[in-house]
Amino acid sequence: MRPTGRLHIGHLFGALHNWLKLQKEHESYFFVADWHALTTDYANTANIKENSLQMVMDWLAAGIDPQKSVLFIQSHVPEHAELHVLLSMITPLSWLERVPTYKEQQEALSNRDLSTYGFLGYPLLQSADILIYKTNFVPVGGDQLPHIEFTREVTRRFNFMYREVFPVPEPQLTQAPKLPGTDGRKMSKSYDNCIYLSDSPETISAKVRTMFTDPARLRRHDPGHPDICPAFSWHKLFTAQAVYEDIHTRCMSAGIGCTDCKKILIDNMIKALAPIYEKRIAWENKRQEVEDILRQGSISAKCIAQATLGEVRDAMGLIV
Ligand code: SF4
Repeated sequence: MRPTGRLHIGHLFGALHNWLKLQKEHESYFFVADWHALTTDYANTANIKENSLQMVMDWLAAGIDPQKSVLFIQSHVPEHAELHVLLSMITPLSWLERVPTYKEQQEALSNRDLSTYGFLGYPLLQSADILIYKTNFVPVGGDQLPHIEFTREVTRRFNFMYREVFPVPEPQLTQAPKLPGTDGRKMSKSYDNCIYLSDSPETISAKVRTMFTDPARLRRHDPGHPDICPAFSWHKLFTAQAVYEDIHTRCMSAGIGCTDCKKILIDNMIKALAPIYEKRIAWENKRQEVEDILRQGSISAKCIAQATLGEVRDAMGLIV
């Protein structure tokens, strides 16, 4: 995950819940992709360090367990970079140029100069991140599928040219629910419309009380349209199905008002998020321990990464 700083409930439902499942079932590696942050934010790196720590505190508070999974910082395992260089020797430039996110992101971030070597090559750095652990499954959202397909092509090419070193990785698609923010737009830090995992119960309550609802429901006795109401989308994540189905019916017949509906939502959100918030505060006070976990994780990651690189160097005819 790129070090975006504090995580919001979109990350919780879109990624972390899946990670929690994975860490129960598989040997898992979760890392802060700080080099990837540099591919777009190289001109302003002031927040990368703090964002990395804040994000890892959220992982830990949500239940990612360093006793079960390996947590580390990408740049602490420079073997990723060596594999990136070695793979770059066999990767046709045209494969990188046709990765859809290359053009899309250049257009979306037109205020930055992304015509750099690092930005063009970042999908291959991702391939190195994946292959260095001989990864079988990569948990990704749908937007990342072209990158996994690209990695699979690079893997087949390497295995064919030299010898079979890498398993061809499979995407493990994460069904990320589309989550609106407090203003009804996509939940995003840049819109300032998020509920963060580090928000206190009071903050959650204040944000929900003032959040958007059905814009057509101006008075209490107006029937509402829950399917276009952002508060109702959140009910689907935090409220038991029987209860939110009842709210749906009562909203449409004006049988429940937005204030009461939001009260139920606030209670359920606080019940679900307060334990994460409390653990988060505890981790905030143990920053040194968080850094130690990451350092320890990089040692474990390095062990595997070095063994893989030994095989890669040998397969490519280099002196090991
Ligand atoms: S009653 Fe609930 S679901 Fe209906 S419009 Fe108000 S907040 Fe939204």
